Amino acid sequence: MENKNIVILGAAESGTGAAVLAKMRGMNVFVSDNSTISPKYKHILKEHAIDFEEKGHSREKIHTSELVIKSPGIPDHATIIQELREKSIPIISEIEFASWFTEALLICVTGSNGKTTTATMIHRMLKNDGRNAALAGNVGESFAFHVALEDPVDYYVLEISSFQLDYMFSVKADIAVITNITPDHLDRYDQDLQAYINSKFRILNNMTSHDHLVYCADDLLVTGELHRRKPEVTMHPFSIEHKLERGAYTDNNTLIFTINKIILKMTLEELALQGKHNTYNSMAAGIAARLVDIRKESIRKCLKDFESLEHRLENVVTIHGIEFINDSKATNVNSTWYALESMNKPVIWIAGGQDKGNDYEKLHSLVNERVKTLICLGKDNSKMIEAFKNVVDEIYDTQSMPEAVGWAYQLAEDSEVVLLSPACASFDLFENYEDRGTQFKTAVKGL
Ligand code: ADP
Repeated sequence: MENKNIVILGAAESGTGAAVLAKMRGMNVFVSDNSTISPKYKHILKEHAIDFEEKGHSREKIHTSELVIKSPGIPDHATIIQELREKSIPIISEIEFASWFTEALLICVTGSNGKTTTATMIHRMLKNDGRNAALAGNVGESFAFHVALEDPVDYYVLEISSFQLDYMFSVKADIAVITNITPDHLDRYDQDLQAYINSKFRILNNMTSHDHLVYCADDLLVTGELHRRKPEVTMHPFSIEHKLERGAYTDNNTLIFTINKIILKMTLEELALQGKHNTYNSMAAGIAARLVDIRKESIRKCLKDFESLEHRLENVVTIHGIEFINDSKATNVNSTWYALESMNKPVIWIAGGQDKGNDYEKLHSLVNERVKTLICLGKDNSKMIEAFKNVVDEIYDTQSMPEAVGWAYQLAEDSEVVLLSPACASFDLFENYEDRGTQFKTAVKGL
């Protein structure tokens, strides 16, 4: 790899990480971003004496590279990607690249929802057990940054998105987790659900019967695809609908794990994270941890103590009996379904944003049952208003977070809840979901 001419497209967390790793391994690195690079990443690039450009792509440099690492945010139809394809220049993801430089056991987590929660839980369980493990990928530090700059570890728990999977080729997970698959990001997959499923299933690439797949047996898209493909991996399902002989399931309020013959039982009340979706995440994480022989006590401790992550059904504050919950990370219909499902008080629901081809009908009955008022917060709320006009009594339309929060506070009564769970991406009005959640919390705290 030394002296290889390598180009990195996109200079955020994954691109900059890949650039640093490539540079440290003696490659000739050039980083190109078609918009502005944030000061944080510019500083890192300069610090490592890496050549870079922003606000455009210099064709002559890029077209003559031997290998391109593409950031997940760049869509396949971008002109620069099409050009590289025509020239048959290999394109890989940063996860693929970083995997070439580590010997660690890989626990790879993908799915439409619950990736960060599940991956963080697995990492916590490994740490509780005293293992030398790191959490990376789509959460926190990029995989490449970690491989480049930190001491070697024995285990990597990697959160991997479909956009990263699309450009992974030689990576082999020792343990793969597919939390669930539900329509998401279809705008990037030509509205083709099968293409999105295929992308998620790339996590199984190169796995053999010695490797393990942890998956949700209640998810028909996942089980249907497994039935079709019949992969050779060792399967570990989890379910809250059926009793299972191996894996994990729930029975009368008890969560039961059966892996490597060892059975761990916990009541659902003992779980720190409540809601059906979190029961699923807890099962997935517990199985993965058992597969690397993490002690029962380390698993139990994590599941009992785990604090909810920021922007995921995060309790912000209760004012005059009105609870405020920030679920800004709910960027698709399915995650909002689980948020509403876990509410047991009347809801003032703040939702909306950039639509990804959402089918809101799936929310109708829950919304009808639990939502008192809908406050639409998006640049263009017409689709959402149309979808719910016959389902909720009151709908409001705004483009401002402080206004949305102010109205919600006025409309809510004692023992009700104000829930931000948008079911949409945030990019129409906010930088990202973190910015949206932070603005929500700031507005709530200002009340
Ligand atoms: P991801 O990393 O896949 O986006 P997160 O753990 O960050 O997943 O959670 C994203 C959103 O999805 C949050 O709103 C969360 O409450 C919801 N969620 C978490 N786990 C699940 C699940 N297993 N099924 C459906 N929704 C979930």
